[in-house]
Amino acid sequence: MIITLGNFIDGRTCAAQSGSYLDVVEPASAAVYARCPSSAAADVASAVAAARCAAPAWAATPSAERARVLNRLADLIETDIETFAAAESRDSGKPLSLARSVDIPRAIANLRFFAAAATQFASEAHPMADGTINYTVRAPLGVVGCISPWNLPLYLFTWKIAPALAAGNAVIAKPSEVTPFTAFLLGELCNRAGLPPGVLNIVHGLGTDVGHALVEHAEVKAISFTGSTRVGASIATIAAPKFKKLSLELGGKNATLIFADAPRAGLIDTILRSAFSNQGQICLCGSRILIERSYYAEFRDEFVARAKALRVGDPNDADSDLGAIVSQAHYEKVLGCIALARAEGGNVLCGGEAVKLTGRCADGWFIAPTVIENLAPQCRSNREEIFGPVVTLQAFDSDADAIANANATEYGLAASVWTTDLQRAHHIAAKLETGIVWINCWMLRDLRTPFGGVKHSGVGREGGWEAMRFFTEPKNVCVFL
Ligand code: NAD
Repeated sequence: MIITLGNFIDGRTCAAQSGSYLDVVEPASAAVYARCPSSAAADVASAVAAARCAAPAWAATPSAERARVLNRLADLIETDIETFAAAESRDSGKPLSLARSVDIPRAIANLRFFAAAATQFASEAHPMADGTINYTVRAPLGVVGCISPWNLPLYLFTWKIAPALAAGNAVIAKPSEVTPFTAFLLGELCNRAGLPPGVLNIVHGLGTDVGHALVEHAEVKAISFTGSTRVGASIATIAAPKFKKLSLELGGKNATLIFADAPRAGLIDTILRSAFSNQGQICLCGSRILIERSYYAEFRDEFVARAKALRVGDPNDADSDLGAIVSQAHYEKVLGCIALARAEGGNVLCGGEAVKLTGRCADGWFIAPTVIENLAPQCRSNREEIFGPVVTLQAFDSDADAIANANATEYGLAASVWTTDLQRAHHIAAKLETGIVWINCWMLRDLRTPFGGVKHSGVGREGGWEAMRFFTEPKNVCVFL
């Protein structure tokens, strides 16, 4: 049976005005199992109208009440965590165990974190020498747009809507059309959570229809976008002349710098996770592994042996380490990148091919964890984002060599540095052209810290007060006493 999803506009579940739908496909089986509205500008206009109506009262709602509603939403998701985890896994192809342990708990944490932030966000005061006082109040922007990608569907959807709502805005949110299911489920809980109609509106459909209309709409004061650098650039060209606030979290080509003195305990485990978690489809994944030459061969041999032992399988199986690639188009793109790496002279040490499963997953889109060496820093395979279970290995001879190679990409999202020499680690962290550096760890996240990238990885930061500031407009009042 095909499940029909709806938009959530003005507190009601509804179809797109055109009545048209997009197929929703399970990547593990390639079967269509649901359909989501294929909305357009008219649906965005309805959502904006509802949001405009709801915005003043929500902005005036005491922050403690806004926090209560967000916490209630988190509670409702938590009560039904298995439904959400199963839906996320089915929609995206990620292992159910990952959706259950990472994606949905983090979505719940996002809502709770920004519920608390709502109650702690304060005005600032700047007294001057003569006793004059400046006070800076931050008001919500009104109606804002949040556009999220498919790789961490509910995790990134809530990472945007939670601060937007906590700060007192009315929101139009557009989940990826590739993975709409958990955003739909969240919409179905909003009324029970006590969110007034129109405060959160969820409009499904293609980026070129819904996303574009949202970015274009004059009443939408800010766009918070996570996705590809290509789409981020096109959003910027539309939003910038309209003077909208923009937060762009874009692609990455992150380096993992491993020195010969790297602490060995848990090293290979964490580097494997950073390479292949979610089939390598996490913007923070370390896809270029740089290893000090004296440790290169030992690291390579152990890493490749462990990568070969990873199990690619049905996302529902508890022992699957990797599930399916999110869509046929992306599967073909990743296989194309592997072919390019071979053409560029890459030596495929393991993987490098599709994995054919049997039974219900016989038609699914699976790719073996792939490790490639012998590629120069400047080749396309080492510069362009692949966003799949594919990593390259390169040797370096000195700190300067490692830094130059790590920075030899247009992207600048994250990096990790592995060494017991912390002085060296700090010096290297200072020179890496990224928004995030992990030392002897990967993807440890404190939601208070600024999150985002430099260069072509984006503009602006999410997380903590950065997000609350993004979703508010400051006004300074200077009082001469
Ligand atoms: P994408 O850019 O194709 O789509 C992202 C979202 O934008 C989707 O909801 C899509 O429908 C919408 N969209 C597409 N075209 C649009 C347009 N013209 N106007 C407005 N909206 C439009 O990205 P994706 O393939 O869904 O996600 C993968 C990408 O996201 C990768 O490049 C990855 O690195 C990046 N990503 C970045 C971060 C980060 O925090 N920096 C996190 C996760 C993913």
